[in-house]
Amino acid sequence: MANYRPDDRSKPWDVVRYLRMSGDQQNKRSPDQQNDVIDERLQRSNLPWVTNQTYRDEAKTGRMLRNRPDFNRMLADVKSGIIPARYILVDTIERFGRNEDLDELRRRLFRKYGISVLCADQDFADPNTQNGEAAALLENFRARADSRVKRHNVIRGKRDKIRLGFWPGSKAPFGFSLHVVRTEPRGDRLVRHSHLIHHEVTAAIARSVFMKSVRNPSMGQGALAMWLNERADISDEFKPFHADTVGRWLCSPIYTGELVWAEYSTDIVDDMRILERNPDDEVMRVPNFCEPIIEKAIFDQVGQFREARRTNRSITEAGTRRQVGMTYNYMLTGLVRCGTCGASMVPNGSSAYVTAAGEERRYVSYICAKSYTGLCTNKAHVKEDWLRETVIEKLRERLFPVDSNEGEPPWMTEIVDLVKSELARTHSERDVSRPALAREMSQLEEQTVGWSVSLANSGLAARLRQKIESDYASALDRIAEIQSLLNRQDSEFRQVSEIVNPSEVTSRLNRLSDVLSKDCPTLCNLMLSMHIESIVVSDDGQIVMRTCKLGSCPESMHWCGENEAEREAITSPKDRHCTQPRRRVRIATEDLASGNEDSHLREIAEHVTNPDRFAGMPDDWFWTDRFLIPEKSCWSKDNASAVLKRYLELQSKTGKKPSCNALAKEFGKSRPTILQALDYAQCDHDESTTKHRRASTVKIKGNVEVERRIEEMHDAGVLEKDIASEIGTSRSSITAALKRLYDQRGLQKPDGRATRHQD
Ligand SMILES: [Zn+2]
Repeated sequence: MANYRPDDRSKPWDVVRYLRMSGDQQNKRSPDQQNDVIDERLQRSNLPWVTNQTYRDEAKTGRMLRNRPDFNRMLADVKSGIIPARYILVDTIERFGRNEDLDELRRRLFRKYGISVLCADQDFADPNTQNGEAAALLENFRARADSRVKRHNVIRGKRDKIRLGFWPGSKAPFGFSLHVVRTEPRGDRLVRHSHLIHHEVTAAIARSVFMKSVRNPSMGQGALAMWLNERADISDEFKPFHADTVGRWLCSPIYTGELVWAEYSTDIVDDMRILERNPDDEVMRVPNFCEPIIEKAIFDQVGQFREARRTNRSITEAGTRRQVGMTYNYMLTGLVRCGTCGASMVPNGSSAYVTAAGEERRYVSYICAKSYTGLCTNKAHVKEDWLRETVIEKLRERLFPVDSNEGEPPWMTEIVDLVKSELARTHSERDVSRPALAREMSQLEEQTVGWSVSLANSGLAARLRQKIESDYASALDRIAEIQSLLNRQDSEFRQVSEIVNPSEVTSRLNRLSDVLSKDCPTLCNLMLSMHIESIVVSDDGQIVMRTCKLGSCPESMHWCGENEAEREAITSPKDRHCTQPRRRVRIATEDLASGNEDSHLREIAEHVTNPDRFAGMPDDWFWTDRFLIPEKSCWSKDNASAVLKRYLELQSKTGKKPSCNALAKEFGKSRPTILQALDYAQCDHDESTTKHRRASTVKIKGNVEVERRIEEMHDAGVLEKDIASEIGTSRSSITAALKRLYDQRGLQKPDGRATRHQD
């Protein structure tokens, strides 16, 4: 910093204080103690700084910024200037936070807003002077080295345990339990050494999952989880099973008896917890660590199947770059929610298929993430393309009405009024009410006039004079205090009114319109999430979309939306089966923009992934749109009468029932599509002139008697086609029945082709 001129520290600079509870055992000062230390250091150094606000976070961990609400409030306050601050004072730099991102944040605060973070334990040395910089560097270095040493000691302890054959700590994996072998007092606590042994119930469940998976290579972790959840022989205490959990088991070598430890470590990058693979030489592998639950061969086979499935889905590897955040393929990701259980509805694609006419098609629908695993009853499917188009159309209707091609949208005045009245309301509730303050002030002013008259009287008794003088002084203090309170309210009010700035809103809307016309789902998702609170899909096909009128000015939500009491009421625990929205995974913004744009987008990304971003906002700040999932229409329905017409035509020409295969060829559709079209047509006509389907055959599935008969004939060597004609059904029904039979026997069904042409 070549041209940097340090502040004159003897001036009454505006400061704010930040206090934070910490879980650090070595440095256990409470926020109140931290505050005292700051007071004491300010006095000792004779610094006449004025504390405008004190922020405190009671949460124990400081690693994630988003878990520190007051910290974020402080940043918003000082950046916007609502609370004037030249310095942010903390006890030690740990209170502010220490990872690399926060270093960057400190630098940005200084460069952009001229605000420095000063620490009491360094006598508030200015970090921007050379001395300060060196001190800060050293301090940072010391703390990092310190935490490395600590981490190293913990790891060494665990490694020693593993070498002795003991479980290194934490919960036992599913299927196992801990058997304490010996205990050892260490300091004031008791260290337990445990072996991993089979849990009498869950070990069998874990084994069954591997067996099911190896016999059914097409079942993914979702299907396996569903299978577990539906099993009546598994006690409810272990349910529900989630797809991710099952997936984790299937690739965890502990089930073969091998312990693989420290494969991953966690780190915080960009305020997000990430998992990183450790270098191979740090990973410990201990074969025969415990009794295996599944044979190695089966485990490997399951792994191969999983790998094959993964390659099928052609997930591209992210390369060696540390990828922060994710990109979206569908722009409504995270916004569509299940009306039954509250879980997110996820895009689910059919695999690509080719129609009889030769077009390649692929349908993507949103379905409830929990209905996959049988945990939710909502079976609604919403076509992705239809929903996207409908939502954008509604949003355009709301935000850019047709009659306003230029200038302000007509709802602008409504929004400004809404914000103003909400502000007036929260202000009158939040702070000591304004009229009372004004009244107190005018009373004080009257008193001081009276006192000054008395003081002017030279004959006033000395004791009385002293009393009046001290009252006078405290009254003046109080007047100054009230004045600054009122000023603060005024400036807050002004600031927020400025935030809802019509030209700013208009330019943001133009940007939204611009983004929506481009083909970039991630960016569209960011922008849409600023406006759309949720799109809730009910089982009956009803869709309710809530759009926030203030979406274009998210800053206003900070002051208007946050009403703690209301939020409590909203987020109070609901039904146990309801899913509370979670913060979404960080969205990758690097590739979307560069330079300054990037940090702006990152702020938006931070905002829109917060599930509480609209919490506490009154209902009249939202537009509510309702629409229905369109009834499924399809080729066979739309062309039913045409197919029937042709069918009857051919019938009268040839005098016999036309072949459906020929019809299918003629229309360029598949045979089932033609049959379905004829079904629809027949419904409309309600005549049984067209017997295009084969007479209904015997019901086999669940019909014990028939299944028995099939089994007998099969075991006696009767061919499938002969069994079919004997029973009076199709050969494929017999194949299906035999497949079920072999599944019950736990065997693979022999290929029918091997025996079909024997006779
Ligand atoms: Zn659901």
